[in-house]
Amino acid sequence: MLYVSTRNAEEKVTASQAVLKGLAEHGGLFVPEYIPKLDVSVDKLAEMTYQETAYEVMKLFLTDYTEEELKKCINNAYDSKFDTSEIASLVKVQGAYYLELFHGATIAFKDMALSILPHLLITAARKNQVKNDIVILTATSGDTGKAALAGFADVEGTRIVVFYPKDGVSPIQEKQMVTQKGSNTFVVGINGNFDQAQTGVKKMFSDQALTEEMKAAGYQFSSANSINIGRLVPQIVYYVYAYAKMVKSGAIENGAHMNVTVPTGNFGNILAAFYAKNMGIPIGKLICASNENKVLYDFFSTGTYDKNREFILTSSPSMDILISSNLERLIYRIAGDSAEKNQELMDSLQEKGIYTITEEMKEQLASFYGNYASEEETAAVIQEIYQDAGYIMDPHTAVAAAVYKKYQKDTQDDSKTVIVSTASPYKFTRSVMTAIDENYKDRTDFELADELEQLSKVDIPKAIQDIRTAPVIHKTVCEVEQMEEVVKQFLNI
Ligand SMILES: *Cc1c(COP(=O)(O)O)cnc(C)c1O
Repeated sequence: MLYVSTRNAEEKVTASQAVLKGLAEHGGLFVPEYIPKLDVSVDKLAEMTYQETAYEVMKLFLTDYTEEELKKCINNAYDSKFDTSEIASLVKVQGAYYLELFHGATIAFKDMALSILPHLLITAARKNQVKNDIVILTATSGDTGKAALAGFADVEGTRIVVFYPKDGVSPIQEKQMVTQKGSNTFVVGINGNFDQAQTGVKKMFSDQALTEEMKAAGYQFSSANSINIGRLVPQIVYYVYAYAKMVKSGAIENGAHMNVTVPTGNFGNILAAFYAKNMGIPIGKLICASNENKVLYDFFSTGTYDKNREFILTSSPSMDILISSNLERLIYRIAGDSAEKNQELMDSLQEKGIYTITEEMKEQLASFYGNYASEEETAAVIQEIYQDAGYIMDPHTAVAAAVYKKYQKDTQDDSKTVIVSTASPYKFTRSVMTAIDENYKDRTDFELADELEQLSKVDIPKAIQDIRTAPVIHKTVCEVEQMEEVVKQFLNI
C-alpha cells in the first residue's frame, strides 16, 4: 500500500514515510491509493479486544510496519492510560448509542490517535534510518496540545514543544498543559492569539536556515496535527469496533446498517467513519454535525464551500473551524482521485476562500447528511438529556445529539445510530453546568467539577484530580517574535 499526494499524482511514499512527513509537498495530503477491505468477519471482530481490532484495521493501511512493530505500538498506546479496558465504551441513552472516546489521558477524543502516533512515528524513523531526534512543534487552541504532550512525554528520541495563546484557553486547559511532566516536554504561553502561534510554528517548519542548524545538532521537526495519516488510521478502528460490539450485544443484526453522527471540525473523525464504511462496515448515513460555524452544513446543502464568513466563538471550541483540512481527502476522492481537479478547487479556496464542486461530485456525497446546532440548541439538549435520562454530555457531543434529533425529524430514519462522544463533560464544566442551571455561573471551574460529580454520578476523572494540586512546571511566556529563540534555548542550540 502506497500513499499519494492529493495535489501531485507523482508523489508517492510508503506508510511510514507518510507518517514521518505528515504533510505532502505543496500543501497536499497523503491518501492511501485505495481503501482496503477488512479481511476478517464481523463475527470474529465481535470477539476481539480493542487492541486486536486495532491490529486488524491498521495492518491493512500501514503495510510496511511488521506485525511485531504494529502490535508493540498498539499495546503501548491503548493501555492503563485509559480508564476503561474497553478503551471506547458504548452507552445507550434515549435509544441512541454514545460512543465515548474520552477515556484516555486527557479526556478528549484526540487521545485515541495521539496516544499511538508517537510510537508510529518513532518506529517510522527507525525504519527509514532517521538518526536525528524528532522535535514535534505544535500550536494549540486547547485540546490538541495536551493530548500531544501526554502522547509524547518521555518517548525516547522525541522532544515536544507546544505553544498556546496565554489568554486564549480555558483555566482547566491551561492547567492541564503547564503541569505536564516529562523531561522532553516544553510548554510556552505566547502573548498573542492562536493564529499567531500557528503562523509562528509554520514559519519555523519552512525556515531553511533553522532546519540546517537543527540538523547539525541532531534534530529534525515533525508535526502531530490531524492531517497526519498516523492520526487518521487509528481513528478508523473505533468505528469497526463499535459496529462489532453492537452486533455482539444484540443491539444490531449483523449486516444491518448503523448510522453515525459525528461532531465535526477539521473533518478527521468523520472521514475515518467514511473509510470504515468503505472497508466494508455497514455504515448507512454519515451525519456531519456542526456548531454555528456551519461551513460544512452549507457545503453539504449547496455544493459550495465558502469560508468567507464571520468566525464565531462557541461553547464547542474544538469545532470552531472555517477550513476543515481533512475535507480535501474527500474532495480528492469524489473528483475521481484526480490531483489536478483537487488542486484547482484548493487553489480557489486559497485565493478566493470559496469553491464549488460539480453535480457529478455532489452525487457521490449521498451518504452524507449535514446540519448544525445553535448555542441555544446545544445548551437545551444538554439540559433535556440530563433531565430525561440522567446522562451528562459535553458541548461538542451535545452538538451531535441536537443534530441527530434534527436528522430524525427530517427523515424519519430510525436506523440504529452511534453518536460520537468526543470529550468528557469534565473538560467543559462551565458550559455544561450552566446549561443545566444558570445559577452555577458564579462558581469556579473546580467547584463545578464537584457539582458535576454529584449530578452525573460519574467519578471525577484522574486527569482533573491530578491537575488540582499538581505543581506548575512550565512558566515560560514569550512574545510572538521570540518563538524561534525559545525553541533553540530548549534544544540547547
Ligand atoms: C478535535 C475535536 C473535535 C473535532 O474533530 P475533527 O476530527 O477535527 O472533526 C470534536 N470534539 C472535540 C472535543 C475535539 O477535541
